[in-house]
Amino acid sequence: AFEVLVVGGGPAGAAAAVYAARKGIRTGVVAERFGGQVLDTMDIENLISVPHTEGPKLGAALEAHVKQYDVDIMNVQKATKLVPATTPGGLIEVQLESGASIRTRSLILSTGARWRTMNVPGEDQYRAKGVAFCPHCDGPLFKGKRVAVIGGGNSGVEAAIDLAGIAAGVTLIEFDARLRADAVLQAKLRSLPNVRVITSALTTEVLGDGAKVTGLSYKDRATDQQHTIELEGIFVQIGLVPNTEWLKGSVELTPRGEIVVDAKGQTSVPGVFAAGDATTVPYKQIIIAMGDGAKASLSAFDYLIRLAPA
Ligand code: FAD
Repeated sequence: AFEVLVVGGGPAGAAAAVYAARKGIRTGVVAERFGGQVLDTMDIENLISVPHTEGPKLGAALEAHVKQYDVDIMNVQKATKLVPATTPGGLIEVQLESGASIRTRSLILSTGARWRTMNVPGEDQYRAKGVAFCPHCDGPLFKGKRVAVIGGGNSGVEAAIDLAGIAAGVTLIEFDARLRADAVLQAKLRSLPNVRVITSALTTEVLGDGAKVTGLSYKDRATDQQHTIELEGIFVQIGLVPNTEWLKGSVELTPRGEIVVDAKGQTSVPGVFAAGDATTVPYKQIIIAMGDGAKASLSAFDYLIRLAPA
């Protein structure tokens, strides 16, 4: 059995594994895809002390750092079930899709999240070529340019307010007849001179010149008419979905599926900790996930040293 098993090999999981291994305790990592979401992006400019890196490079660096230590990495393995210990301080079991099962005295969940996509033509082709998901990450790339934000919930409206301070103009596109964001955010949005709001609009296509985004098409749901907007950037803000479906019924999740953690990363199950985008921790960023993974790992160690000797 492991003393610490980490499920998830993104920034949070890598940090958790390094911190655990440095305590000299038996540590394992199970990851469906070691590196996590950073593998899906190119330029990263907000990992403090690293002014610029690229996603695949950071993913490889995370793995290299973990491999400096005696950590058992089980890559391309998907966890499908968590079985809590049956006695206080007992072994926790994680079942894998392969049929294998792993036992551990403490567990760190860091399975991250995925952005919900529009599933329209061009969206995938122009990912990182104008189609973006994270205003904190990619907003500055669109300084003085025209952008759209898709989605009129809190995150979409927050993104539009944020981007209005950087971009030349922002068009917010909402599918429904009304925005769903909090009233104070909507009031703030409507006070900004360079923001236009279009409601009852279904985005139908991301347009590009082969190399980058040049516009988008949408259908006015009231009239059924198609329109196009010329722009350089599109921020898709229709939801961030935690990879926690497999945890339903074992640890407490919010209605949106985030793992509920306290300030130390403790979940509702003794010995089970969680970190990063999969949790209720606010603001989903690499540097935050790394800090959070370190914190959950120290909490797991703190839990282990209080267990009765085996
Ligand atoms: P993730 O990176 O999502 O890692 C989750 C890990 O869990 C992966 O290894 C995954 O394979 C694994 N996993 C999931 N389910 C299972 C399972 N059932 N069993 C086993 N393993 C599983 N942030 C920034 O700070 N700066 C940026 O510039 C930036 N740009 C971004 C660009 C894009 C396109 C995207 C998508 C995100 C970007 N982010 C950026 C956000 C950042 O990538 C995330 O906040 C960060 O990766 C979260 O780390 P994490 O370890 O919590 O989760």
